[in-house]
Amino acid sequence: GDITLRKVRENVWEIPQEGDMRVPARVFASERLLEEIVEDRTLEQLRNATHLPGIRKYAICMPDGHQGYGFPVGGVAGIDAENGCISPGAIGYDVNCGVRMIKTDLSYADLRGRETELVDALFEAVPSGLGGGGVLEGDHGILESALERGVEWCLEAGYAVESDLEHCEDNGVRRDADPEAVPQRAKDRGQNQMGSLGSGNHFLEVQRVAEVFDPETAEAYGLEADQVVVLIHCGSRGLGHQLCTEYLRRIETTHSGLVDALPDKELAAAPAGSQLAEEYYGAMCAATNFAWVNRQLITHRTRTVFADVFGEPWEELGMELLYDVAHNIAKKEVHDVDGEDRELYVHRKGATRAFPAARPEVPDAYRDVGQPVVIPGSMGAGSYVLRGGANSLDVSFGSTAHGAGRLMSRTRAKNEFRGGDVQSELEGREVYVKAQSGATIAEEAPGVYKDVDEVVRVSEALGIGDPVVRVEPICNIKG
Ligand code: 5GP
Ligand code: MN
Ligand code: MN
Repeated sequence: GDITLRKVRENVWEIPQEGDMRVPARVFASERLLEEIVEDRTLEQLRNATHLPGIRKYAICMPDGHQGYGFPVGGVAGIDAENGCISPGAIGYDVNCGVRMIKTDLSYADLRGRETELVDALFEAVPSGLGGGGVLEGDHGILESALERGVEWCLEAGYAVESDLEHCEDNGVRRDADPEAVPQRAKDRGQNQMGSLGSGNHFLEVQRVAEVFDPETAEAYGLEADQVVVLIHCGSRGLGHQLCTEYLRRIETTHSGLVDALPDKELAAAPAGSQLAEEYYGAMCAATNFAWVNRQLITHRTRTVFADVFGEPWEELGMELLYDVAHNIAKKEVHDVDGEDRELYVHRKGATRAFPAARPEVPDAYRDVGQPVVIPGSMGAGSYVLRGGANSLDVSFGSTAHGAGRLMSRTRAKNEFRGGDVQSELEGREVYVKAQSGATIAEEAPGVYKDVDEVVRVSEALGIGDPVVRVEPICNIKG
């Protein structure tokens, strides 16, 4: 398009501030990734975001960025929490979509020959797909508790252990949650989906550690070569989606002045301090808790399956949570802006918090090395565990990428790939995939994603997230 980028330094590109832009925009990418980023509406959406009232420093696009609803997936915006705004489109429909990694004491050799048994058992035990229920038949009381207390509720109800809380972003509970602000229709949709993967891009993957880059940090994380781990990717299901839809509508009508002044209605935002901003924030935090409960219930089922298949209690199998990170969220955080500490709504949409060592939010277990950051690649390529980089607070409001990032639409993917072919090709490489439909496998074929190695190289080069280990897929279940 007509958007010119200025190269600031290696891997850093800027859309200079002009016209009604309140700040410049920055893209973190190598030349090669940039070629992909300029193909869709990402840059235009990023420039639009610089019009949001109260946005600080610059609007950011991560190396895995691509276009999304109003705001790029792979986007970060730090917006003043006192006189700025909060924008649901810059958080995403799937509130607290995120990933968690569970460790085991098993090695790849322990698992060889049992892949099909394991993938079948997981597929049976973990609800997935569009329909169907969840791990729990949630009643009203259970749902309210989940919205209010997140993983704390799971602990009381016997679905979690103490260390699960410690190894979860924010200890698995947002205290600002306001269940009453969650629309009834959102609750209705979520109630029978508690503990379910959902469809499409969400997955559960058994993996093995293939490469260790940083042995000291790997040791602090309890990771070593050949170890079997499990990665779970899902979010807040219909509850988050419904909530986002309804709040967008309310914001458009209640704050039409602010919305009309924006270059794209999809960026609709509620002004900080308004009743609607408070309500949305409380509702979004409640949906965040719901998503954590969702991932925890799936963890519970996963542990049970491993115990059955390997004939030992899960505790004996060392199935501790490494960490759980959100990648669709906004949070009030304090950051340095022009030498002053400011409270910001840090919007991360398809971006992961990557706090370095010493930052108080990093749990005790990882305080000395930085928080774990989990970056999935695809069911064919590897995935990564990084640690929060020393430069992340300066460069990206303490954030890095969230994946490889999509390269093509689902429609195009279905034309280019056939599910059955992808599945057998993967099986030839000893990766066992099971999904509700062949279409899902085609839509999620490794070829629809960018090069995750390149994304991680950029993160490392900028010092915002440093690779600790790379993992490779063994078994994968999808909705
Ligand atoms: P999103 O949350 O935007 O859907 O994507 C998260 C990331 O997960 C994608 O950018 C992609 O790199 C990665 N991903 C998608 N499917 C799979 C999968 O089956 N296995 C792994 N390891 N990663 C995946
Ligand atoms: Mn999601
Ligand atoms: Mn996601």
